[in-house]
Amino acid sequence: SGLPLLDQRISDCRACPRLVSWREEVAREKRAAYADWTYWGRPVPGFGPADARLLIVGLAPAAHGGNRTGRMFTGDRSGDVLYEALYDVGLASQPTAVHADDGLELYGVRVTSPVHCAPPANKPTPEERDACRPWLVQELRLLRPTLRAVVVLGAFGWQAALPAFTEAGWSVPRPRPAFAHGARFELDGLDLFGCFHVSQRNTFTGRLTPVMLRDVLRTAARAAGL
Ligand code: SF4
Repeated sequence: SGLPLLDQRISDCRACPRLVSWREEVAREKRAAYADWTYWGRPVPGFGPADARLLIVGLAPAAHGGNRTGRMFTGDRSGDVLYEALYDVGLASQPTAVHADDGLELYGVRVTSPVHCAPPANKPTPEERDACRPWLVQELRLLRPTLRAVVVLGAFGWQAALPAFTEAGWSVPRPRPAFAHGARFELDGLDLFGCFHVSQRNTFTGRLTPVMLRDVLRTAARAAGL
């Protein structure tokens, strides 16, 4: 019941025709290149404990990251950056996330995204974003008893996630707070933080440095009581 059941149901979702064919096509074409692993090619559910106090919200799984391994931010550069930082601030058991059975554990943190299937060019359509929102709303409702802080990675994730908080019962200020790196808002009992996305584009160019990422994660962990 609860979160594990939700994760199972998300993994079986086929609501978006374009994403279903893309994720399966990528899996079919690239399976040979990763012959040692099972290629997931399905929606990627959230990862982390059901009683998480801190939630990290990305955008969507990467074609050869989460879409390949079946676990959020696992098996790509963005994930390397994120999990190394989580490890450094004491929220993960190891600094690397290679595949779904690598033993990684998160401490009080869950990682999820407003869109659960890998989109072409990392860009879901507004229809796909809206179709996937009910999954995030349900996840937020299930986490609500313990959830104290949220870090949203990037402006797209911010726009996609904020309506889900409203639908899950938090009162989000109107007009909706704007995304910024270092933005911080309180939604009844929940601290919401903005952070640049851990994408290669941001980390290679130094727009998001390791220090900036660790600062946000540390502040959010403190706000969450971790
Ligand atoms: Fe289902 Fe979300 Fe994937 Fe669309 S993006 S098929 S709603 S899991």
